[in-house]
Amino acid sequence: QSRIFSGMQPTSDSLQLGNYLGALTQWVALQEEHDAIYCVVDLHALTVSPDPSVLRDRTRRTAAQYLAAGVDPDRSILFVQSQVPEHAELSWLLSCHTGFGEANRMTQFKDKSGKHGTEGTTVGLFTYPVLMAADILLYDTTLVPVGEDQRQHLELTRDLAQRLNSRFGPDTVVVPEPHIVKATAKIYDLQDPTAKMSKSAESPNGLIELLDDPKVVAKRIRSAVTDAEREIRFDPEGKPGVSNLLTIYSALTGRDIPALEADYAGKGYGDLKVDLANVVVDFLTPFQARVHGYLSDPASLDEVLSDGADRAQELARGTLERLYDRSGLLPRR
Ligand code: ATP
Ligand code: MG
Repeated sequence: QSRIFSGMQPTSDSLQLGNYLGALTQWVALQEEHDAIYCVVDLHALTVSPDPSVLRDRTRRTAAQYLAAGVDPDRSILFVQSQVPEHAELSWLLSCHTGFGEANRMTQFKDKSGKHGTEGTTVGLFTYPVLMAADILLYDTTLVPVGEDQRQHLELTRDLAQRLNSRFGPDTVVVPEPHIVKATAKIYDLQDPTAKMSKSAESPNGLIELLDDPKVVAKRIRSAVTDAEREIRFDPEGKPGVSNLLTIYSALTGRDIPALEADYAGKGYGDLKVDLANVVVDFLTPFQARVHGYLSDPASLDEVLSDGADRAQELARGTLERLYDRSGLLPRR
């Protein structure tokens, strides 16, 4: 039996389509057959110094989007990271096994800190991948469904797990595997189809946000950057913009890419964009209604999350005690 763990940061009012296609869809599929734990990683969001009331609101909104996508709290554990203090505790322990140079090679930190310089960047952003390793290792996770951008962080998690096992015994922690579904592992920004779509992108113009007004979404799709040719063909290297639109189209309709290429033979980019906008809006409309349903009853939502935290903590406590003990920390009683 595999154990699944994954999470998303509440760094925006809305998730973006890449979060949904790259990760959330896999979460929902995997919970059918496996023991799954899904987390709103609010401690990770603290790395970028959010406004407190905004963070609280975004945490609930993120959880509501998990539920609306089909994460089932009766099947899976759904909780908020900060409500299980073992995440922060294990993170410290792991940071004492992480090389400074090793952490310094993480490309996401370079990308994210680049904009602000070292003075405008927190130490938390630097140690982010260590906290992520703690999230995963706490639950003896075997499989982590994420997008391509998280591959390097997963590799660090695996290295840390192997290090703990060679230091403290082969059964100290489970070494997890990434679960990255190639077709949708990296959805690109509509305005810059060589960059990953990201919910905290500087400009929202290239994003498809799940909670955006459908009219805005349709407009952004119609304004997506393509190329100077006319042919609708899947060629991620040569035609990144058009290929990204085909990827999204295929993922939301289940039609494969060759079939879409055949459908659009002889048609123009405008046709593809108008049809894709309709596909996306048809998906978003009922999704948004479900999200607003969950958000209209925050007390019930908080109850679901607290219940999930209780269940998660039971598992986390055991792993942390095992690791504290093997590290030579003195038990309290
Ligand atoms: P931020 O800009 O705040 O980092 P993000 O959009 O990158 O936001 P995360 O919370 O960092 O979102 O990641 C949540 C999950 O979504 C991760 O599994 C990540 O790999 C996946 N993901 C993020 N962006 C994409 C994308 N463009 N395509 C596919 N998967 C993605
Ligand atoms: Mg990210």
